[in-house]
Amino acid sequence: EVKTRGKNGYQFFDPAFYGAMRQRKQRERELQAAIAGNQFVMHYQVRVSAATQRVASLEALVRWNHPTAGMLYPDEFIPLAEETGMIVPLGELVVDTVCAQIAAWTRDGCAAVPVSINVSSRQFNERDMHALFLQSLERHGIPADRVEIELTESTMIRDPVRTSEHLQAMHALGIRLLVDDFGTGYSSLSMLQQLDFDLLKVDKSFTRRLGGDGQGEVLFTAIITMAHALGMKVVAEGVERPEQAALLAQLQCDELQGYYIASPLDAVGVQGEIRRRQAA
Ligand code: C2E
Ligand code: MG
Ligand code: MG
Ligand code: MG
Repeated sequence: EVKTRGKNGYQFFDPAFYGAMRQRKQRERELQAAIAGNQFVMHYQVRVSAATQRVASLEALVRWNHPTAGMLYPDEFIPLAEETGMIVPLGELVVDTVCAQIAAWTRDGCAAVPVSINVSSRQFNERDMHALFLQSLERHGIPADRVEIELTESTMIRDPVRTSEHLQAMHALGIRLLVDDFGTGYSSLSMLQQLDFDLLKVDKSFTRRLGGDGQGEVLFTAIITMAHALGMKVVAEGVERPEQAALLAQLQCDELQGYYIASPLDAVGVQGEIRRRQAA
């Protein structure tokens, strides 16, 4: 009996476990403060036409400018934000920041390029996304066709009825709908068609397979044929090499995104990238 209690006691006071818990609690408090004090910045990565290299859209990617740890990337705080529900206020902050940025670019006379915003499943389930976007668009005086939303297949599967109602209402406003990381989840063809998606973003794991044994090309050909038949465009994510870009253009992939095209840049840098491309 003593032994068992001792064992439990040991587990409870395991310094490594306790340390990890404390660290997590600390990160949670920091994230709370970061939302209250808006320590986030948005970076923007261009998505270009495979045929013309002109900019089709910008993807808004959130970064946390942490007071001591420096710039943190989404993988370091989005999972915690999702687990704790803080993704809801964080998501509101992102939508509002992006809309404010679009309005500022418009005032500065920048080209009217749409911006896509990532939305995760918990946000979709807990917040009326349609109302959130509508309010933010109105507050900043932005037409709905300046924004797009990206959601993964798992987001749609969680609560298909509710999700589809909201998506349809947003689509009716003129917001384009994008499937993110396509090929890594389990969406059905009928769901993609019913929800009337505009564009499939094919996950970077598929792009990585191009130029090897030919299987990457086979997969892209199948996805592109299917997407076009359903009235959707296709973008390849994670394009890192010129050969991949050339192959994708040959396969009739509509758009490209990745480090080879351009890295995510801050709000000033990305406007330089757009001007450089539209001038070329
Ligand atoms: P995602 O939506 O699939 O975004 C693309 C990610 O791939 C970005 O990472 C981008 O920097 C990275 N990337 C771009 N080009 C390349 C490339 O050529 N090679 C490779 N290996 N990676 C490339 P990031 O910015 O770290 O974002 C990671 C994920 O975090 C995003 O994946 C998205 O799911 C999530 N995320 C980002 N911003 C937000 C946000 O505002 N709200 C929500 N809910 N999620 C966000
Ligand atoms: Mg995305
Ligand atoms: Mg993606
Ligand atoms: Mg992703």
